Amino acid sequence: MQSRRPQAIINLNALNHNFSRVKQLAPASKVLAVLKANAYGHGMLAVAQALKHSDALGVARIDEALALRAGGITKPIVLLEGFFHPDELQQVVASNLQLVIHHREQATALVAARLDAPVRVWLKVDSGMHRLGIYPDEFNELHQCLSQSANVQTPIRLMSHFACSDELANPVTLRQLQLFRQTIADTEGEVSLANSAAILNWPQSHADWVRPGLMLYGVSPMADGSGNTQGLQPVMTLSSSVIAVRHVKAGEAVGYGGSWIAAHDTRLAVVAIGYGDGYPRAASNNADVVINGQRLPVVGRVSMDMITVDIGKQSVAVGDNVILWGPQLPVEQLAQRVDTIPYELLCNITSRVQFSYV
Ligand code: PLP
Repeated sequence: MQSRRPQAIINLNALNHNFSRVKQLAPASKVLAVLKANAYGHGMLAVAQALKHSDALGVARIDEALALRAGGITKPIVLLEGFFHPDELQQVVASNLQLVIHHREQATALVAARLDAPVRVWLKVDSGMHRLGIYPDEFNELHQCLSQSANVQTPIRLMSHFACSDELANPVTLRQLQLFRQTIADTEGEVSLANSAAILNWPQSHADWVRPGLMLYGVSPMADGSGNTQGLQPVMTLSSSVIAVRHVKAGEAVGYGGSWIAAHDTRLAVVAIGYGDGYPRAASNNADVVINGQRLPVVGRVSMDMITVDIGKQSVAVGDNVILWGPQLPVEQLAQRVDTIPYELLCNITSRVQFSYV
């Protein structure tokens, strides 16, 4: 019997296609592939194993890095949030992890630690995003202090992060670039600035290392448009099955709160996916799915395990496959409809969803 569980099918050829697209756009740069948050919901280990040509991998937190090492990944791994407690530094050395240093206390703790081997450090400058990063006026002092420490490999790598690189008309990106360049002046060391949107839009920011996340998964970081307009291929297809087909009469209300009322006699497909699987509740009366090649509307509220779809006179049967997003139905479109970003939809997929890799 066919599984009723929602399925996420992860197309690793598409992943590698997107990686090649990064290389095409930034041919002179090395690639630090961003795999945090379970590779944006795609499965961190499988993605790490598939990305054979990336030069390094980036995660936010140490437990993510340790999971990659436990899974046999030997590539350089960068902790994008650095370390939190000095005790973690032994693990950083033992597991050969690289550290982003983004504030003074981290630099001080690293220099003061007793380590068995020096660590590869990426010194992050806040060039205007005002989230993580040392202040530009601390740069010379902290760079010198780290460079002189036996705990730090030299030359130190230098990085920053853009706040608005998805906004083509926004001058902030160029201002950040300028402040960063001014801050590091002619300091020796490889440089990394560009996330997906900067890889796509700001070639002058590509530098020695690019740091793609979302675009590797075939999804556009831009507010409008979808990955295929950028030469990307969606990696994830989220699908489920029809578990019931039923008739409703004109005037009947459907689902919790009766938020949708049939305008005429119609038929509904009940589909096994809901917010308990990560499908957004904001898609209630506000999204399409694809069944047998037809785009059909979600009607009524999204519940924990199910959604209802108005199938009218379409030929749909129990067991039919239903696509929630994927190459036929860009996740960017759903994100726009439900007033979020594709990053959030992808990360929100829960462990109830069955993953397979093709
Ligand atoms: N670099 C850093 C420091 C990040 O935090 C992220 C993700 O937020 C990325 C790169 C990748 O960004 P994107 O997924 O937009 O390419």
